[in-house]
Amino acid sequence: MVILYTYNNGVYINLKDVDITKKESNHKNIYVNLTNNCPCSCTFCLRNTKEMAKSNSLWLDTEPTVQEVIEEFEKYDLTQFNEIIFCGFGEPLTRLDDLLKVAKYLKNRSSNNPIRINTNGLADLVNKKETAALLKDLINTVSISLNASNAEEYLTLTRSKFGIESYDAMLKFAVSCKEYVPNVVMTVVDCIGQEEIDACQAVCDTIGVPLRVRPFE
Ligand code: SF4
Repeated sequence: MVILYTYNNGVYINLKDVDITKKESNHKNIYVNLTNNCPCSCTFCLRNTKEMAKSNSLWLDTEPTVQEVIEEFEKYDLTQFNEIIFCGFGEPLTRLDDLLKVAKYLKNRSSNNPIRINTNGLADLVNKKETAALLKDLINTVSISLNASNAEEYLTLTRSKFGIESYDAMLKFAVSCKEYVPNVVMTVVDCIGQEEIDACQAVCDTIGVPLRVRPFE
């Protein structure tokens, strides 16, 4: 089971397989793989499109418990790493309470590693409550997949089980996060065309959140 992994040049690598003593190692971030659950079924999701060696697979037969995640972290000197990122082949905020427990453990270790969540931004719908305030003092960055410039296109791409209300809920979550999290960013992939990127930029300008255009893998 891959609980902690790192990422280099398009390859996911189980942290257990990384020699972090090597100076040339680029494995600076730790990714936490909490779940395969997601309320979306995005047309472009790597879960559907990327084949990986079984040993590196981010598919989880069973989700790791909080204790198992902490036990993995205990194996490492976190000063050797930069950012810690909750991101796997699923939506980390479907395990909101467990994610918060792991984040609290990390903060208590005084490791000073900034903590980020890569999310689809549907946490409020998933958890049936407003969630942004719970991230206060624990999470440094929330990176939200904007995906599209309007609700219809968003639903076509993400096939969210929450339907057409998903887009506005995602934007509302982003605005709420600004109150409690130091860095909030929205992302789109670079292959959606300049016109759509410009439209997404306009959406982000309206809500006052920066947009990052990232390469499609
Ligand atoms: S939100 Fe992320 S994990 Fe979920 S289906 Fe879309 S790309 Fe995959």
